[in-house]
Amino acid sequence: MNKADSERLASGLEFMGLDLSEDIAEADVVVLNTCVVRQSAEDTATGTLGKLKRLKDKHPDRIIGVMGCMVGPKTDDLARRFPQVNVWAQPQNFEPIISTVGLALGVDYEGCLDNLVPGAPAVSTFVPIIHGCDKFCSFCIIPYRRGREISRTVSDVIHEVDLLVQRGVKEVTFLGQNVDSYGHDFSPPQDLADLLYSAEQIEGLDRIRFLTSHPSDMSGRIIQAIRDLPKVCELVNLPFQAGDDEVLERMRRGYTQAEYLEKIAELRATIPGVALTTDLIVGFSGETEAQFEHSMDVLRAVKFDKVHAAAYSVRPGTIASRQYPDDVSVDEKKRRLRVVETLQDEVQSEINGRLVGQTFEVMVDGHTRGAHTGRTRTDKLVFVEDTELELGQFLHVEITEATAYSLRGRVTETQVVEAVTA
Ligand code: SF4
Repeated sequence: MNKADSERLASGLEFMGLDLSEDIAEADVVVLNTCVVRQSAEDTATGTLGKLKRLKDKHPDRIIGVMGCMVGPKTDDLARRFPQVNVWAQPQNFEPIISTVGLALGVDYEGCLDNLVPGAPAVSTFVPIIHGCDKFCSFCIIPYRRGREISRTVSDVIHEVDLLVQRGVKEVTFLGQNVDSYGHDFSPPQDLADLLYSAEQIEGLDRIRFLTSHPSDMSGRIIQAIRDLPKVCELVNLPFQAGDDEVLERMRRGYTQAEYLEKIAELRATIPGVALTTDLIVGFSGETEAQFEHSMDVLRAVKFDKVHAAAYSVRPGTIASRQYPDDVSVDEKKRRLRVVETLQDEVQSEINGRLVGQTFEVMVDGHTRGAHTGRTRTDKLVFVEDTELELGQFLHVEITEATAYSLRGRVTETQVVEAVTA
């Protein structure tokens, strides 16, 4: 989400005549886009602001802006702590920065606020469709910083994707803290499926993805849209966070292990070859060994294509920080993380190993370590050795090698086959 916001702000600043600087010490305008999902991330941001103070002391005419989740509705306290900052902007609220820079440059900035679509986007680009979150999970600071859910209209999103496609984009990922509640704030309510059906019609767009889902809001209609729309990739990231019902209740996630597994079963029964990824927290307050084992039960039962696992860390300002002690030791959290990683290594090696010898549609999206990289529809990273390839090119690639984390393959004329997952 921050990457998408940064691209949009950069687009507005470029429209005013600014260029991207390679060197922060040379930049006339420095904008720090902050993440505070963990306290350690916020500490990194405040540390960077310390470095920027030295820059500002030497060059008082430089403009320093801070945007993102560090900035709440009130900035008095932040302004007192960081007087080196000229302008504060909440997530997705670009106007304060654009206007401050415009006034400093003496340019009329009004028109620049309408030009926040990246001018030279990557072939695969993020598009925020809903801001904020209404869920208030007990460990999470996001709703307090990003506010309540506000969806962009379908026509607004479609107009932006149209522009992006004209600028060379082949694949979009619709973003939201809880993308499945997209449109619920409209009257009458709409949902993500409505947006997916509209986006499917965009000529020149090849692939549509979306992130991140919430098990309670992933409706049957959304699941059917993934199945029925050829451009919508068969990949769902469905965080479960914990596999134990008591822990889930303390997390305020709003579902049980059984309900989560029912949703997984519905996804697998409806969408052939669907790939599944998830997010998991280990060592949440009060999580016993037996309760952690319930999370392992879910991992063993589902066999996810990828797991983003994190050790619980207290986030000041959340319900959990006030109500529950952080009573699982650091060593124990690390051990649980290693247990998860060991299992996932085996699961992913098994899943990816089954792909060797099969052919998939791959879109080229980068170049690294002497090979082109691309992604299958199920978001598997594939290395392809061919110097003639272009970004955004679609290939049929036969998989020749697989590890737990990536695939390697050769370009072939063979017909694309269905993705195969666990
Ligand atoms: S759904 Fe996600 S963003 Fe919203 S409160 Fe829960 S963890 Fe945070």
